[in-house]
Amino acid sequence: MSEFDYDLFVIGAGSGGVRAARMSAGYGAKVAIAEERHLGGTCVNVGCVPKKLFSYASHVHEDLEIARGFGWQVDGARFDWATLRDNKNREIERLNGIYGRLLEQAGVTLYDGRATIIDRHTVEVAGERVTARYLLIAVGGRPFVPDIPGCELGFNSDDAFYLDELPQRVLVVGGGYIGVEFAGIFHGFGLETTLSYRRELFLRGFDHDLRTALAQEMRAKGVEILFETDVCGMRETDEGIECEFATSELMAPRVFDGVMFATGRLANTAGLGLEAVGVEMDALGNVPVDAYSRTNIDNVFAIGDVTNRINLTPVAIHEGMCLAATLFDGEVTAPDHDNVASAVFSHPEIATVGLTEEAARERGEVTIFESRFRPMKLTLGGIEEKTLMKLVVDAGSDRILGVHVIGRDAAEIVQGAAIAVKMGATKADFDRTMGIHPTAGEELVTMRDGRVSELPRPRDL
Ligand code: FAD
Repeated sequence: MSEFDYDLFVIGAGSGGVRAARMSAGYGAKVAIAEERHLGGTCVNVGCVPKKLFSYASHVHEDLEIARGFGWQVDGARFDWATLRDNKNREIERLNGIYGRLLEQAGVTLYDGRATIIDRHTVEVAGERVTARYLLIAVGGRPFVPDIPGCELGFNSDDAFYLDELPQRVLVVGGGYIGVEFAGIFHGFGLETTLSYRRELFLRGFDHDLRTALAQEMRAKGVEILFETDVCGMRETDEGIECEFATSELMAPRVFDGVMFATGRLANTAGLGLEAVGVEMDALGNVPVDAYSRTNIDNVFAIGDVTNRINLTPVAIHEGMCLAATLFDGEVTAPDHDNVASAVFSHPEIATVGLTEEAARERGEVTIFESRFRPMKLTLGGIEEKTLMKLVVDAGSDRILGVHVIGRDAAEIVQGAAIAVKMGATKADFDRTMGIHPTAGEELVTMRDGRVSELPRPRDL
């Protein structure tokens, strides 16, 4: 009989934790998992899933224009927030149930409550102390709101999914993907939407051409974007929430009905007990790990957002699967963080895999192939939105280093291209691939005239 209650105790039943627990149990390990909130974690409850449902809902606004162009009479259509929110809540509850059943079927013991670490083999949860050979920290993160006067008047991304009413004039603070996505969502719902960001251009780390294209498209659709502008104080007035801004130029205070902070996320490690065990954390509370997701304590592992590697659901899941194989299947497997495709569900959408032009150029000579066009679907509806597709190609080897798309269905298109990039495809491989006509995606395999990249360009705008 084992000296421990469990082989593995997982803290946090989010994307990474659930997968690690299920896979480990599948390899024959005795596994328990603790969850203090909802099964499925951020992604299912206050992240990817409800966000994408909202994103679909907000696109209907333009889809109605498109429908009109195609001859449909859609007058009188109106958006009802409560219906969307409540339908979304029902769907999330359904998914919570599925997660519970998956864990049960896999034979994983579920503890309902907050877990704290007592020592390197002991966890306390729901008034009970249990021991395990290995501990897995999969606690994810939570929204961070800067401590400015009046910040309690605002709401964060968790709250945004459950608002009683939508604010008619909304300010979204932040230039990461969550802020940009919510600005598009709110605008699509018909709200007067302003986005403020303290730097020169949002979506740091994405290809510069896509970032500028997105700013132009959002402005053309009617979203007000204030770059180099930081909200520095808020107070309640009869008219609404008055916000003061710090900018290089003098700016009068502005009044909004709601202010959303999309100002970053912090790891859920406060009060977890990591200090007592000696697990190292960085200054922000993230848990550094080695290539196999092991912390500095040899039986304690961490995966997902808490490690702050690439904070995406498929990455957390992949890290969980690699860890289960390493610990319980005799296959020592390091997660692969190369060429991870990702999307921003902005309006229009961005999707990307591989190196940006800026990053590729730092490594050597690159050729850029680009195509900018209005997708056929938008033509009759009179929507001027442009799609931009961009291939970053290594000038020496002809290898495709990056694929970047902004436009309708960008994520669906880039997912396929990501396989080719992962396999090491060359531009010649793309050229000899027949396009599917007529599609937007065919542009990726029909780009002929490249330009030599003319960097240096601004890298860190
Ligand atoms: P989480 O999913 O956050 O799960 C951690 C779990 O641990 C939580 O359920 C928490 O309640 C629980 N927990 C914490 N502490 C304890 C404790 N002490 N005891 C018990 N339980 C505890 N990613 C994408 O890939 N695509 C997207 O489109 C996307 N959109 C997003 C939109 C938003 C608004 C947000 C916030 C995130 C989005 N993400 C997206 C990121 C994605 O949600 C995360 O990368 C992913 O959920 C990380 O999984 P995880 O397992 O590390 O943690």
